[in-house]
Amino acid sequence: MPKFQKILHPEKFNLILYYALTSFIVIAIISLAVGWIFPRMEGQALIKRSEEYAHYFISHLNYKIYKDFLLPALRRDKQIDLENNHRQFKKLDTVVRENIYGLKIRKLYLYDLEGHIIYSTVPEHVGFTLDRGTNKKLDSAIRGIAASAIRLAGTTDSKGAYVMETLLESYYPFYEMGKDGSKKGQVGVLEIYQDMSRFEKQMTKAREKAIIMTGTSMGILFLVLFLVVLKAARIINIRTRQLIDARNTLEQKVEERTLEIRGAYEKLQHTQRKLIHSEKLASIGTLVTGLAHEINNPLASVASCAEGLTERLKTIVGHKEGYNNKEEWEAFPEYLKIICDETYRCKAIISDLLNFSRQSEPEFVRIDINRVVSDTLSVVQRQSQVKMQNIQLDLSKDPCVVIGDPQQLKQVFMNLIINAFHATEGYGDISIAIYRRQTVVQIVVKDSGIGIKPEDLDKIFDPFFTTKPTGKGTGLGLAICYGIVDVHNGRIEAFSEGSGKGATFTVTLPLAT
Ligand code: ADP
Repeated sequence: MPKFQKILHPEKFNLILYYALTSFIVIAIISLAVGWIFPRMEGQALIKRSEEYAHYFISHLNYKIYKDFLLPALRRDKQIDLENNHRQFKKLDTVVRENIYGLKIRKLYLYDLEGHIIYSTVPEHVGFTLDRGTNKKLDSAIRGIAASAIRLAGTTDSKGAYVMETLLESYYPFYEMGKDGSKKGQVGVLEIYQDMSRFEKQMTKAREKAIIMTGTSMGILFLVLFLVVLKAARIINIRTRQLIDARNTLEQKVEERTLEIRGAYEKLQHTQRKLIHSEKLASIGTLVTGLAHEINNPLASVASCAEGLTERLKTIVGHKEGYNNKEEWEAFPEYLKIICDETYRCKAIISDLLNFSRQSEPEFVRIDINRVVSDTLSVVQRQSQVKMQNIQLDLSKDPCVVIGDPQQLKQVFMNLIINAFHATEGYGDISIAIYRRQTVVQIVVKDSGIGIKPEDLDKIFDPFFTTKPTGKGTGLGLAICYGIVDVHNGRIEAFSEGSGKGATFTVTLPLAT
């Protein structure tokens, strides 16, 4: 995680500290910016004021020079020649000095239109010519547009002289004037140097003022906001603590509830185990009752036949040799047949029971249900009684492949077909149809036989439930089917509208993917 993200992490975030730091940075930046901009604005305003002053002063001086020097000199000497006519120079110097006396004008120059200095309060500069193009301000004034430039202390001016104190150099066009004081043509350029020593002082003062004012107002703002932030931080702290408390309580409650749920779950598991146990006991009870009931009758027959035969044998053996009572002997084949039949019945019951409780693992393979059903039907039809009956078979057009144990599935369909045969007593209609649905295959075995009573529908899959007379059914066939279909993740359902209305059995199995 980057460092700043760590710092800004909600749990580490200290509002007051970050407020103080950011405010300090913002205040410092704003104060410096204002301290830089404000003095510059102040300086510009000062230069503008000085320029305006120079403008008025120069206009006045232009008039004075014209009136007090130029007109009298021209009247007297007919021409102006300041370089050679010392009197003229002196007169002009007097006029200029009288007019600048007491003002903050440090130097004054008068140029002709060639940039030649024809008069200056610095006499040694008279006679110099400033090259056109080197002094842009002078060039501008020669073209009739006033211009000025600030010369800071420690630099040099346009004449190459060292500047002791800050000056403002201003160039103005110098005009010939009418008698009424109106300007005629431009005859030269007047340049004045104004003392601007207050310029830097004023700038420094303005800077200080700006920084103090901004700093103070920002400081007050900072304090006001600080109080607000302090209050907010306090509220946030309280809320955070409340939230943490709520979270802790919630965690505790969740823990308690989890424990409660775990306890309830364990209790439920215990109850379920008990239930399963009692269900098991109940099933064993049903199984034992059914088994006892089923086996009791044939065993009773076997026992009474055996007793009968024993009695008869005693009578035969107790008589002298040659005793031959035909009646006694005649009972033997009949009784022995009953003993055989009943014993085989017991064997059949035991074998069904073994089938039902068989623990062998099914062997799953990919098989087409169409094939399983048609194979089963062929086997069943080989039995003579079933052959007599018309059974309609509608296989699915598409293969219906499932993952299953072919032998076990055959047993399911065989039970259903034989049950249908029994229900129709060999004469009704039986139809078997296979439907391929989206993810499953449905096998529907329908008959028009004796039907099932609504109250029996729930019981027919129970082991030993049978409505057939004693000796005809064991009640294990559908229970076996149920178990097999369940192992194949399918379901088996029975539908009947009641006695005499036929029955439909549906087996649904998942299709192989
Ligand atoms: P069993 O056939 O030995 O009785 P089953 O488990 O196969 O045992 O059947 C249980 C009972 O379900 C049958 O006794 C019968 O009452 C009912 N039964 C099963 N199939 C049909 C059917 N096709 N029509 C009507 N009743 C049926």
